[in-house]
Amino acid sequence: MPTLFDPVTTLSGIGRTRAEQLAGLGIRTLYDLIAYFPRDYEDRTQLSTIDHLEPDVPACFEAMVITEPRTSHIRRGLDLTKLTVADHTGRLPLTFFNQSYVADQLRYGETYFFYGKPEGGLIGTQMANPAFERPDAPAVVTRRILPVYSLTAGITNRFLVRAVSQALDACRGTLPEILPDSVRSRYGLCGAEFAYETIHRPESFALLAEARRRLVFEEFFIFSAGLAMVRARRTQQPHAPYANLDVRPLLDMLPFSLTGAQQRAIREILADFASGRPMNRLVQGDVGSGKTMIAAAAAYAAAANGFQTALMAPTEILAEQHYQHLQPLFAGLGLETVLLTGAMGAAAKRSAKAAIADGTAQIVIGTHALLTGDVTFASLDLVIADEQHRFGVAQRAALSAKAGNPHLLVMSATPIPRTLSLILYGDLDVSVVDELPPGRQTVDTFLVGEAMRPRIHAFIRRQVDEGHQVYIVCPAIEEGEETSLKSAEAWAQTLQQVVFPDLQVGLLHGRMKSAEKEAVMGQFAAGNLQILVSTTVIEVGVDVPNATLIVIENAERFGLSQLHQLRGRVGRGSAKSFCVLFSDSHSQETRARLKALCATNDGFEIARQDLALRGPGDFFGQRQHGLPAFKVASLTCDVKTLQNAQEAAAAFLADAPPEEGSPLYARIRALFGSAETAFN
Ligand code: ADP
Ligand code: MG
Repeated sequence: MPTLFDPVTTLSGIGRTRAEQLAGLGIRTLYDLIAYFPRDYEDRTQLSTIDHLEPDVPACFEAMVITEPRTSHIRRGLDLTKLTVADHTGRLPLTFFNQSYVADQLRYGETYFFYGKPEGGLIGTQMANPAFERPDAPAVVTRRILPVYSLTAGITNRFLVRAVSQALDACRGTLPEILPDSVRSRYGLCGAEFAYETIHRPESFALLAEARRRLVFEEFFIFSAGLAMVRARRTQQPHAPYANLDVRPLLDMLPFSLTGAQQRAIREILADFASGRPMNRLVQGDVGSGKTMIAAAAAYAAAANGFQTALMAPTEILAEQHYQHLQPLFAGLGLETVLLTGAMGAAAKRSAKAAIADGTAQIVIGTHALLTGDVTFASLDLVIADEQHRFGVAQRAALSAKAGNPHLLVMSATPIPRTLSLILYGDLDVSVVDELPPGRQTVDTFLVGEAMRPRIHAFIRRQVDEGHQVYIVCPAIEEGEETSLKSAEAWAQTLQQVVFPDLQVGLLHGRMKSAEKEAVMGQFAAGNLQILVSTTVIEVGVDVPNATLIVIENAERFGLSQLHQLRGRVGRGSAKSFCVLFSDSHSQETRARLKALCATNDGFEIARQDLALRGPGDFFGQRQHGLPAFKVASLTCDVKTLQNAQEAAAAFLADAPPEEGSPLYARIRALFGSAETAFN
């Protein structure tokens, strides 16, 4: 009796070579075959007649062979087998290329079902290489809805159809039902075996839709259950709720008063601190909405209750900048802040680590290395991940495992449509910061071509003359094969030597040493550089309010959300700011995309358009963001099912979490793939 996890070689007709080819599709076991869902279907159920055939519209029909098949050898490698078939409405000539064996299969005077694409011609309709079957044979390639699979070298659709069918037959009765009965009856979902059977061998499109609905639900249910398990592990807080929730001393130090949205987010965070459960909160706000102060208030509250905070930034530049801003602020409140980055010297690192270990440092700022390295905290209780849509489910789970169950605050500047934030952050509560500090002006954005270059140079000079600073963003670091792309190194040199010899032009890119990067950024922040030529390393977070112009070269190379992030580097002070997008792309679609950016400054609207243009996979760069690869479910089409599955998973898990080793547990692990640590 075969089992689901037997290798595919247990099926007849699959040897070592086939098995290797299938492995290329990720198929190793019988279960993998069954779970290899078709990417499309061909409707071969409607029977037509010869007189109804239309050129280029594939059709299925029944007809009798009325001439003896005849094969002629045209030249080496080309044999043609010809015959004519007929039904009561007419005749149709058939041609088979290099399939002389059909001459033995198609018998004069006998009737068959055919499926093929008619071709119109001078001498009337004809057909090449149709599929055919005897009426008494099982319907495999005619009279059915044929699944269409994604293929790989050596593997044909016909082969897969057969292999999957064999696997389904072999495993009948062994496929576990993952969805609880109560869930299935509540949402009217068909059984697992029927669903897997039907997704491959549908008897009708209505049944196919039922099967698909169940499988989408199943996929989302598994995902939601996984998220809920991560969350469940984070419900224990090893100490009493925070008693001191007064952040006024910090706010009194600020030169501005908080926006309503900032106040609301801070209130929500303080309520989490007072709840006795670990906080799991996402703060979502457009660039410049003032998320740093929200983080600072949270850190202050933790310190006031005797706990340490780790503030993690995605880049060392940003960590350094946070340190520059926050260190004096906290020092004024008698709190000690330390920076820990790879760029620091050994001695500085050692003393920072000592201060973290003995608790002298209440606020620790760094990159992810803070949690992965050999850093020991005296009393870490709050972890803040800044500008991190990359801080995915797996990392969040790993964090709780590593650091006990600290409060977690994730700050994201990419406004995420609600459906996707459910997916990415289903285990988080969300605070939306939908208000910019007063006095912010929109950044005027222009799309220009090369012809405008001299005028833009003049515009750059004018900004500098007015005492402001300018970013210039290039898509590449060095001159490369792609000569059409501006490289930061070469362009910085040209600008410094040829265009603006009297100004200070700096260069910043990801391949520079950390210390160099910090030095350049420091120079720019201090106003010693007027122009900073950079790659996208300045994309997130960098805050130099005196910069009023950002010029983006080869703008067509960047995604909408990324351009919006880059644009967010200006317009941070009170002076009018501008963004110039250079692009000579003639693509209609590209121009539409860039024009969309000129038309609005609303990050949520831009994210929505970006998502619609690129789809969720590209939008987030799937793997990087810990977004699982769904097989049937679509994040764009199946939102309602996602909501239902999420509810169902929550209710189910509240009763009884899946046991280790249970089929559901195994599927959860498989879906989260590399996120091994997540469930250990
Ligand atoms: P982001 O949300 O992009 O991280 P920041 O926290 O870097 O934004 O804030 C952007 C700028 O706005 C900073 O210079 C910050 O000091 C300033 N800022 C923050 N909150 C306010 C406020 N309520 N009023 C005025 N300026 C503010
Ligand atoms: Mg920020």
